[in-house]
Amino acid sequence: EKAKAAPGIYDVLKTAMNYYRAQLKTAPAAIEYLKSRGVEGRIAARFGLGFAPSAGQSLKTVFADYDKNPVIKDAGLVAEEENTLRRYDRFRSRVLFPILNQRSQVIGFGGRIMGNGAPKYLNSPETPVFEKGKELYGLPQARAAIRDRGRVLVVEGYMDVVMLNQHGVEYAVASLGTACTPEHIRKLLKLADEVYFCFDGDKAGKKAAWRALENSLEQLVDGKKLAFLFLPAEHDPDSYVQEFGQAQFENALLQDSVPLAQFLLKELSAQVELESEEGRAKLISLAAPMLNLVRAPAFGMMIRKRLAEL
Ligand code: ATP
Ligand code: MN
Ligand code: MN
Ligand code: MN
Repeated sequence: EKAKAAPGIYDVLKTAMNYYRAQLKTAPAAIEYLKSRGVEGRIAARFGLGFAPSAGQSLKTVFADYDKNPVIKDAGLVAEEENTLRRYDRFRSRVLFPILNQRSQVIGFGGRIMGNGAPKYLNSPETPVFEKGKELYGLPQARAAIRDRGRVLVVEGYMDVVMLNQHGVEYAVASLGTACTPEHIRKLLKLADEVYFCFDGDKAGKKAAWRALENSLEQLVDGKKLAFLFLPAEHDPDSYVQEFGQAQFENALLQDSVPLAQFLLKELSAQVELESEEGRAKLISLAAPMLNLVRAPAFGMMIRKRLAEL
């Protein structure tokens, strides 16, 4: 009989996830941290949350070949000291959010420091199985709700996805980091007919919304809806849903979200003097290159109509 194949990158990441999950159960500080954030046990389990201990080489517990197995390094689980080639765990003293691909395989982790400190989040590096610009955090957990509700909601952070889920908004996913790439948009438009973006109410969130809009123009499809919900400056979806609850969040999503065309023209209008001919001419010159990216005929017509109204 053939010898068992050496564990591949997915196996190694899964072993690590199971190890980190088990560690969480015996880490009072981490459990306390998650409690302080309002996370319930069932939700921690649903998202496979874990804990990376503070020891430099805690993964030695599960990988006998920790020091030399190239796959452990390829998976982004360890860093190597330049001179000595001594390895140490990438994630230490952090609460871990496993990142799954759409086939529910573990491809990486996001690790949050407990309390204040920098960096607040440490993510897996890009690896052969983890390309940040393509993956959507929380997709396997959200897929059924996305299908049932016919909509997908895009947020910035791990905690946003997790806490929305806990409050019954199960169709949320996060773009990793803040940027929503064209590849993300392409995937989102395949998932549902309605794509909502709800980033943080702060400056970075507003910027992220505009980036998402720019990256959407080329990919707009007639019959699909893209809209943006802007939260009060002090909120992100996590804090908002914890304070106001599911019903109010979903009401805001449906009633207060701004359709893409409206967001586009509102932002551009704010950059010009609509009262003067020159200002209105400038508006047209700002809108033209963006409009030229739109290939969906009805979308294009709608934006032009609104532009004409202005
Ligand atoms: P929390 O609620 O735990 O404070 P957050 O998600 O609200 O986290 P933000 O500062 O709003 O944190 O950042 C949004 C997202 O951007 C994070 O969830 C994370 O994915 C990513 N991010 C934030 N800071 C960093 C960082 N220093 N390095 C890498 N990614 C980061
Ligand atoms: Mn933010
Ligand atoms: Mn945030
Ligand atoms: Mn937050």
